[in-house]
Amino acid sequence: MIVAGNWKMFHGPDPDALAARLAGVTGVDAIVCPPYTSLARCVEAGLTTYAQNVHWENEGAYTGEISPSLLLGLGVAGSLVGHSERRLYFGETDAGVARRAQAALQAGLGVIACVGETQEERDSGDMETVLRIQVDAIRDACGPHLRLVIAYEPVWAIGTGRTATPEMAQEAHAFIKSLLDRPVLYGGSVKPDNADELMSQPDVDGALVGGASLDIESFASICQAAAARAEGPKQSDTTEGLA
Ligand code: PEP
Repeated sequence: MIVAGNWKMFHGPDPDALAARLAGVTGVDAIVCPPYTSLARCVEAGLTTYAQNVHWENEGAYTGEISPSLLLGLGVAGSLVGHSERRLYFGETDAGVARRAQAALQAGLGVIACVGETQEERDSGDMETVLRIQVDAIRDACGPHLRLVIAYEPVWAIGTGRTATPEMAQEAHAFIKSLLDRPVLYGGSVKPDNADELMSQPDVDGALVGGASLDIESFASICQAAAARAEGPKQSDTTEGLA
């Protein structure tokens, strides 16, 4: 089980206080993705720290970008790529996202690559087509790399308070895994009160948490739910047990 907190362009919690709180939570890989200005402090606090994006070149005239080697030099462990806010507001494409993921993996970073459909795409029955295009681009560039994790983040559920039902998440995760055999995190308005049910699904391997990761207690409680699921049965295990 993996739980990653995306602080977006917010200051976020105090890294030392968060690290102290998470020290008591075992059995889950907790990751923080702070803004660039807090990367070093999070690393120093002992948190597993990912950037929110990474470029494909190690250096060059790419104003506003950050490279794999600059991140590695800080002790950063990995990066998100392809977050829907990057795709929506900054014109990032499937090809660019795949290139970022490939370069980061090659450099030795971990990668959480985000995919997901818009409400319009879901309503028009194109969810699988969209996911296939997004995942295929990442798979073709990276293969089932051991440091690659996919995050399924339906765009309509991000920051909206609308969460996919556990069944919707399971269906999308199973589909993604049929294309690329890597762990899949669910993201989209995950909160302490819905985290356990989402993570009870057999193909939900953790969560990518935005808003709720800005509060230490909320994030810790989601990590605790993941840790409990990592130890206890998943819904499929329970069903098999009863059969
Ligand atoms: C995110 O930023 O990746 C995210 C899922 O945000 P939220 O949890 O706030 O919907």
